Amino acid sequence: MTDEILRVALDTPLRRTFDYLPADNAPAVVAGQRVRVPFGRREKIGFIVSTESHSELEISKLKRISSYIDDQPTFDTALLTLLRWAADYYHHPLGEVIATAVPKLVREGAPLQERSFVWTLTAAGRAALEAGEPKRARQQRALLEHLGSDQAGIFEEALADWPRWRDHARSLRERDWVMRQERAPSAQTEEVAAANLEPTPAPTPDQQAALDTVIASGDTGYRAWLLQGITGSGKTEVYLRLAERQLRAGRRVLILVPEIGLTPQLVGRFAKRFAGIPLAVLHSGLTDTQRLEAWRRTHDGSARLVLGTRSAVFAPIPDLGLIVVDEEHDASFKQQEGGFRYSARDLALVRAQQLDIPIVLGSATPSLESLHNVSLGRYQRLSLPRRAANAQPPTLRLIDLRAEHVHAGLSTTAATTIEKHLANQGQVLVYINRRGYAPTLACTACGWVAPCLSCDARLTVYRQASRLRCHHCGADRELPRQCPQCGYAVKTVGQGTERIEESLAETFAGVGIARLDRDVVRRQDELEAVVSRIASGEARILVGTQMIAKGHDFPDVTLVVVLNADQGLFSTDFRAAERLAQTVIQVAGRAGRGDRRGEVLIQTEYPEHPLLRGLLDGGYEAFATAALAEREAAAWPPFARLAALRASALQADWATEFLAAARRAAPKANVRLLGPAPAAMAKRAGRFHAQLLVESADRTALHRFLDRWVPAVEALPEVRRVRWALDVDPLELF
Ligand SMILES: [Zn+2]
Ligand SMILES: [Zn+2]
Repeated sequence: MTDEILRVALDTPLRRTFDYLPADNAPAVVAGQRVRVPFGRREKIGFIVSTESHSELEISKLKRISSYIDDQPTFDTALLTLLRWAADYYHHPLGEVIATAVPKLVREGAPLQERSFVWTLTAAGRAALEAGEPKRARQQRALLEHLGSDQAGIFEEALADWPRWRDHARSLRERDWVMRQERAPSAQTEEVAAANLEPTPAPTPDQQAALDTVIASGDTGYRAWLLQGITGSGKTEVYLRLAERQLRAGRRVLILVPEIGLTPQLVGRFAKRFAGIPLAVLHSGLTDTQRLEAWRRTHDGSARLVLGTRSAVFAPIPDLGLIVVDEEHDASFKQQEGGFRYSARDLALVRAQQLDIPIVLGSATPSLESLHNVSLGRYQRLSLPRRAANAQPPTLRLIDLRAEHVHAGLSTTAATTIEKHLANQGQVLVYINRRGYAPTLACTACGWVAPCLSCDARLTVYRQASRLRCHHCGADRELPRQCPQCGYAVKTVGQGTERIEESLAETFAGVGIARLDRDVVRRQDELEAVVSRIASGEARILVGTQMIAKGHDFPDVTLVVVLNADQGLFSTDFRAAERLAQTVIQVAGRAGRGDRRGEVLIQTEYPEHPLLRGLLDGGYEAFATAALAEREAAAWPPFARLAALRASALQADWATEFLAAARRAAPKANVRLLGPAPAAMAKRAGRFHAQLLVESADRTALHRFLDRWVPAVEALPEVRRVRWALDVDPLELF
């Protein structure tokens, strides 16, 4: 007799799966099922990923599975295929990939379904009720009446307030008058009736053309669409209409949005359009219980529409018919921390391909990767080149900071233009990519600047709170009054949002000013409070970081001022220019969304810089064409594939020594190794960071190399002194 062997993925950093024998008297087993297994001296929860007939270990040495937690799989074969693909592609242990894909409480053994129970009357119970039984026990009688008041029975949760209901119910059950039954998972009965849908605006000709193209190619079958629409062109309307077709056909829809883009407005828009269609929202701000509940509603199929951020790409959604990735260029789709550094956008494409369903990537400023895929014919482009409702695109103008009087970061031209727009009842957005009051605190005498002791960084001044804080490690200390070195006076240098807010308040006394950045907004309701101050018109000027550029529609904003465009112009990161162009276009897109034409001012010390000139003269399209040509010449992505081996250690040399050893351990292959090099900010939170880049024009060659190299890296003796991670398709290089 050959024993069946169950291969189990466990959440451990070990790059392997584990073989077990079935539990005694085991029920049938399927892949994706959760199990408890003995592991070392403890038990662990894992997931069966396959059943095998052979093991590399001797059968007699295999342990038995302790128990099966569920009688159904946690994920279906299709999702398991995606998880395996992700583990292979990112060269990461499957157990940890799965751990990322399911909520914490599911990893810890919480039931896949919420069990709820209803109490109903038996035939005998009805007869008793009609006969006025039980005559003596008035409270039991009242409960019997209550339970009989609804043919479908009464949910146990709804009885919670009933005094001593459990005692009475037990007595009634002993007489066989009532029964307790588990409620089956909610059946899918709702219809996507036209009556349920709110009256929808007629599509613009551009929207209609995009819809016609997608619809003509069929509602099923893999197709990747790049919906390139300028801000205000109505991309969401296209998503809504494509989603509606799928919902009507009984399929489900997954909408992925950037972390910062999942606003209540967006959720509200979907909820309103599809009133009565169950919706699940998955994002990082949920508590563990909320996350479990939302996940369960996708798992049991009751949610028809799933909106979520990065990790929602792993949501278990039966009969998925369409995936939308909104703002596909956004960096938050890439997990950039921890061990499993995946791109949700890229995995969404793989998922669509595996399920053979269409996927729509939307953006006003698509990533160069996606534009390249259009030129290769892998994606088809849909264009929305005009704003909906005839709104005019804004005019863009550069302000030469060298030729202007500048007060607290604001040029005279910017100040007078703000005044003009306020006088014309417009609202103004002021964008600055820096939080806090000032990025530097310096001594006026000896040249001391306040450093972070754990990072190669200066501390940011928070004047209102009277603190010095590090944006990299979270260090937080009191703002000194004098230089700790020489005792002289200290002053702030440069500006952050807090400082700009203060100086605008001085210049425009009596005008309501709101600020939007991660220091002001830590929770969703705080964000809502700021947004509603702008929407109501109580605040006329909004100062903020790129948070102001995402997901909010402020129709009365007529002027956008970009205070410091220059940070991205001279970075060592080859993607910095792309990010700068995207930010400028996205922020500029906030101007003039109503019927008034908007104006955008960009302050710079480099008004002749080709990147800025290109953006102004030819828009994002011209920038992208030039940038792609540069990338091709330099053999950077998307014309090459990259992986970064990153390491950090408590001593400066350890990380680079580890990476140098990793380089020596590299097998011969058609790849180029660059480094090791310390990170631009080598010391962060007390650890020293370095990286080694692997580059190849050939994706297959790169992955074959990584397949052989990663186990060798893991076996290096130097590995014990570092934390390391492999980042395939890294977004940020440092
Ligand atoms: Zn000093
Ligand atoms: Zn720090």
